[in-house]
Amino acid sequence: MAQVFKTRVTEDFGIEHPIIQGGMMWVSQPELVAAVSEAGGLGVLTALTFETAEGLADAIARTRALTDRPFGVNLTFLPTLIPKDYGSLIEVIVDEGIGIVETAGRNPEPYMERIKAGGAKVVHKCTSVRFAKKAEAIGCDYVSIDGCECAGHPGEEDITSLVLIPATVDAINIPVIASGGFADARGLVAALALGAEAMNMGTRFVATQEAPAHEKVKQWYVDASETDTMYVMRSLRNTERVLRNEIAEKVVALEGQGAGIAELAPLVSGKNGLRVLKDGDTDVGLMTAGQSVGLVRDVPPVRELIDTIISQARQIAGTRLAGMMS
Ligand code: NAD
Repeated sequence: MAQVFKTRVTEDFGIEHPIIQGGMMWVSQPELVAAVSEAGGLGVLTALTFETAEGLADAIARTRALTDRPFGVNLTFLPTLIPKDYGSLIEVIVDEGIGIVETAGRNPEPYMERIKAGGAKVVHKCTSVRFAKKAEAIGCDYVSIDGCECAGHPGEEDITSLVLIPATVDAINIPVIASGGFADARGLVAALALGAEAMNMGTRFVATQEAPAHEKVKQWYVDASETDTMYVMRSLRNTERVLRNEIAEKVVALEGQGAGIAELAPLVSGKNGLRVLKDGDTDVGLMTAGQSVGLVRDVPPVRELIDTIISQARQIAGTRLAGMMS
């Protein structure tokens, strides 16, 4: 659909709508990424999903075969059970001329010079005003600020998007992307009202036709309410928000008994999460989701989802809010 909201992010990224698809482990695959970009948003591949440099290069080629539009690549520097070769993934990003790189999980300073050597703009995704200021200081071009409603890793400070987004906008000069809790048109208008230039959505995109998730997982998202997520791994200072299930309850119980990562690894491993996602065995591993899962009520095609968000956001901003002003 035609552009309705023109922001610094839509202009800089060359996209129609200020909607960015979250970099989700295993989910952000070429078919979903290309569908988001084709619908006017920004799709984002997750580099770690493809494990090797060759795997990432292949995923970039497959995405390019599906869309001529811009898309980004996410590189998350969180602790992992098996060490990752970030250097070779970055070489692929540079060689392939990826224009937008989303870093997350840790200060990307050691990698900045190399990432930027390929001409990429860096969006750093982080969970506090302190980290956002640091991102600006080391030369990041955008900050994607993640309120604790988010899926995956919310940080340790539990500041909600309603406060964290405007606090970040006030603290830095580079454009801010609102992340954590966003799933619909109301969220988009709120994000823009809070001073952000775009919204980042992850959870909502898992329940779409193009997402590479088992039908049972998509149905789990549709059925879940906003109270059905919980934190795990807080005792390790690597908190993760996941959907409540037997494994998540077991992890928290073990943490209460003082278990460390060695004991938790067989439960929290991403390999088990992949089995949940691919096979629909909802009790064999952890499945991340944000509190916005409570706003997910259907499994539409990506284009329909984005078109609906944009047309409803126009109605909210242009009719509902405008009509309230005297
Ligand atoms: P994994 O199997 O290596 O690890 C499983 C979980 O244990 C992850 O949450 C990881 O952070 C945590 N973990 C691993 N080693 C740890 C340690 N020594 N101390 C504390 N916690 C530890 O993970 P994976 O599925 O192969 O994914 C790779 C990484 O990318 C993970 O860190 C994952 O969380 C991260 N990632 C997160 C997001 C997101 O939150 N949106 C997106 C992309 C990637």
